[in-house]
Amino acid sequence: MRYVSTRGAAAPRRFGEILLEGLAPDGGLYVPERWPAADLDALRDLPYPALAHALLAPFMDDVPQLAAIVARTYTKEAFGSAAIVPLRTLESGLHLLALSNGPTLAFKDIALQLLGNLFEAALAARGETLTVLGATSGDTGSAAEYAWCGKRGIRVFMLSPHGRMSEFQRAQMYSLDAPNVHNLAVCGTFDDCQDLVKAVNADAAFKARYRIGAVNSINWARIAAQTVYYFAGWFAARRAGAEAISFAVPTGNFGNIYAGFVARAMGLPIRRLVLATNENDVLDEFFRTGRYRPRRTAQATSSPSMDITRASNFERYVYELVGRDGARLAALWRRLEAEGELDLGAYREAIAASGFASGRSTHAERLATIRAVYERYGAIIDPHTADGVGVALRLREPGETMVCLETAQAAKFAATIREAIGREPPRPRGLEDLERRPQRFAVIDPDPEALKRAIAEACGA
Ligand SMILES: *Cc1c(COP(=O)(O)O)cnc(C)c1O
Repeated sequence: MRYVSTRGAAAPRRFGEILLEGLAPDGGLYVPERWPAADLDALRDLPYPALAHALLAPFMDDVPQLAAIVARTYTKEAFGSAAIVPLRTLESGLHLLALSNGPTLAFKDIALQLLGNLFEAALAARGETLTVLGATSGDTGSAAEYAWCGKRGIRVFMLSPHGRMSEFQRAQMYSLDAPNVHNLAVCGTFDDCQDLVKAVNADAAFKARYRIGAVNSINWARIAAQTVYYFAGWFAARRAGAEAISFAVPTGNFGNIYAGFVARAMGLPIRRLVLATNENDVLDEFFRTGRYRPRRTAQATSSPSMDITRASNFERYVYELVGRDGARLAALWRRLEAEGELDLGAYREAIAASGFASGRSTHAERLATIRAVYERYGAIIDPHTADGVGVALRLREPGETMVCLETAQAAKFAATIREAIGREPPRPRGLEDLERRPQRFAVIDPDPEALKRAIAEACGA
């Protein structure tokens, strides 16, 4: 499989060449040059690791020992059950697909655990090392740390705002006991953390010397890994008797739901992709009006992992809308940069044909959904999942089955759960003492030189 840039002006590359990279040299995102066709009959009864291998192999056809890498990623030990993503039926036509049983209790583990193993193998084959430098306000950082911990050839420096994360999130990150993972608590905000990452990346000599890279949500391997659970969820719903199967997806960066779009392009008969946002509703607005208006700042909400103002994977979707015409996409993005918004009304028919429906939720609606799901079904869902379930219940049509993606466990958001139902969410087994475990982190000032010193010291220079 070759990968082309959405902006059309970069040379096609193989998967092994784009795995460790970010943007294409022309500023675009890499996408596969064609969609592999999935043979549903051959896939429907496969256990998750075999299903994952069958679906990923066409995308990653130059990775030696892909089957072994996939098999050691998707294990019962790491994800809590052999199903990896078990389907929980709430009532006929309404299901939760549990994506949050990985090591950090959020769906990002499904892609990042694979990425950790793919990176380790690729770096070993090239005899290279990599320093991952990132900033986090909570979820993504811990999923990244748990993906890289103990991996050979990789060192991680994760910046987080000192004293501004929940007890649970802090304990989850800082208690990780791996010599290659360095937690740096910055005396400042999440924005200060991001500015520090930018400042260090702007120092080309330092960046080259310590081989600093990033792992962000635009990495194609993450998207590919996420297509797998759409197939697994669709087959499980079909076995439960469902006919017209739709997915409801709480959305921030348009990564998770875009993977559903890819699954559909590969031939999975998904009826609708129901996109749910919180108060940061850039994408809901787009699917209602055809206008894409990224905002300058995000509003802080009770589903914080969706507090995103600019959806980085959205460009890949628009590339399909414009008929994979890179020059046209590049012109649209120049206009977006100049005018701050984009009117895609001219592509109304392509948008309608792509199978999306959308909605948004407010804090009060999330609380009401969490309460209703608890009272009706005895299930406790987290506020992100509640965004999706709430929109799914509002938009569900007669005869339609909604598979709602459960993207995090309620235990991570105890305060909101208490507000909704007046009780504590259950603690997953093995994490009862999480906040009491020893924590490892260094406090630094929001100063690029302080960060560089910390990196240089840890790298023994
Ligand atoms: C990241 C995240 C999302 C949003 O996923 P995108 O791929 O950014 O759309 C939703 N819920 C949780 C819990 C997350 O961590």
